[in-house]
Amino acid sequence: MTLATLNLAAEADALLSRLGVDAAAVQGGTLSVRSPITGTEIGKVAELSAEATAAAIDAAHQAFLAWRNVPAPKRGELIRLLGEELRAAKADLGRLVSIEVGKITSEGLGEVQEMIDICDFAVGLSRQLYGLTIATERADHRMMETWHPLGVVGIISAFNFPVAVWSWNAALALVCGNATVWKPSEKTPLTALATQAIFEKAVKRYVAEGGTAPDNLSTLIIGGREIGEVLVDHPKVPLVSATGSTAMGRAVGPRLAKRFARAILELGGNNAAIVTPTADLDLTLRGVAFAAMGTAGQRCTTLRRLFVHDSVYDSLVPRLQKAYQSVTIGNPMVDGNLVGPLIDKASFERMQAALEAAKAEGGSVTGGERVLSDAAADAYYVRPAIVEMPSQCGPVVDETFAPILYVMRYSDFDAVLDLHNGVPQGLSSSIFTNDMREAETFISARGSDCGIANVNIGPSGAEIGGAFGGEKETGGGRESGSDSWKAYMRRATNTLNYGRTLPLAQGVKFDI
Ligand code: NAD
Repeated sequence: MTLATLNLAAEADALLSRLGVDAAAVQGGTLSVRSPITGTEIGKVAELSAEATAAAIDAAHQAFLAWRNVPAPKRGELIRLLGEELRAAKADLGRLVSIEVGKITSEGLGEVQEMIDICDFAVGLSRQLYGLTIATERADHRMMETWHPLGVVGIISAFNFPVAVWSWNAALALVCGNATVWKPSEKTPLTALATQAIFEKAVKRYVAEGGTAPDNLSTLIIGGREIGEVLVDHPKVPLVSATGSTAMGRAVGPRLAKRFARAILELGGNNAAIVTPTADLDLTLRGVAFAAMGTAGQRCTTLRRLFVHDSVYDSLVPRLQKAYQSVTIGNPMVDGNLVGPLIDKASFERMQAALEAAKAEGGSVTGGERVLSDAAADAYYVRPAIVEMPSQCGPVVDETFAPILYVMRYSDFDAVLDLHNGVPQGLSSSIFTNDMREAETFISARGSDCGIANVNIGPSGAEIGGAFGGEKETGGGRESGSDSWKAYMRRATNTLNYGRTLPLAQGVKFDI
């Protein structure tokens, strides 16, 4: 089937219906949803008003007041059921991700797998929300810390991981005893509606099996920036986890700080890799190609800057250029195609502007042109671009959310480390080397300044077991694995006196 003859609206309707979304929810609304695969409309979703959003947050707060009393392992049982429902829905939801965002089939399915994995992680976590017992200086006393839920956790997500980002936050927030309110990207409300329907199925099973779950434990609010702002400013939302551009974080961060709310900011990246003289070039080629071209360059962890040592530059870069010329671009749901479309026309225009700016700085561009416009005039497919740059300047220091890889030569390891860290963003990074000193230096305190630093693996495609996030203009947040759960709880220090005297700390005397 060609792009021109695809009927994605009908397919999306069928998927939504199988996933439990009422047909009325995706028809007749004010928010037009387009598939980037063809550029055609696939739904019209109702948007929530600011007043209705505030009321939904109040209702979520009521849900929190009940949910915090449910023991954590019992809360985990709900997330176990959510994981089961996601397993059952994986094929359909993965396909809907492909239709709404343009991801290739394995990446659409991979995104749902990530949701399942974080549910498994959160179920285990529900029995491990430990605090410490701490040595106290006073006799017959015990000091310890306990962890309590926070309240309503706001989740704002970006278009490029339309459902996984919700689950990284929600699975943890819910086992920690919070309620959640989710504002997805206005570009991806269909997958959000489907995810909400899957969650509601899990709640139904949980209640049928004897569990206690209040209404409005997880609430979906659909709309643009305005309702995102209501969530950010609402006094009953003690934590907002916001994923998106650095521009969004710059708007959201100060608003949260103003009312002393907590923030997990997961913002833009400008991820780099260093290829050293000892690198395994076959492995490097594959690692670079996936990290730079995968998801059509629309991952926060996409590889955007490549520093190649002089001694291997001519062995690697021509091979890379060849791979760029031969990569298969097209309908992401057709097996064999590796690069799908950009999300929209604005994204294409930003890519072209960045390529022009790179040329003006002396960059030499291979690729970057629009393809398949005859087959789908309203869709934006591009050949990924490689730009050989004389130095790190102009658009190289910005994140352009498209498949552009800037390639630069280097000769000195310390100097390239400075260049590597010499951008405002600090999300993910890699080194390709077989030199133990270089590898260890790269992941040491004087190496990469990013939240993720890899050796012989590209910067994109993190596992849920590790804490995910970055430094500097990437926002500093951490979510998903390791001890990220602590961000979704408040810590109390408790001192208990089981003696008959009242010794004061630091030997203070106060006898009355
Ligand atoms: P975006 O910033 O345009 O939108 C992200 C979300 O923020 C949307 O839901 C949007 O409605 C909302 N929003 C925007 N302004 C807001 C405001 N003032 N108040 C409240 N909400 C607001 O981002 P996008 O184009 O959807 O996604 C691409 C960007 O996201 C890239 O920069 C990418 O690097 C970044 N991203 C980061 C991560 C990460 O974990 N670090 C993950 C995915 C995407």
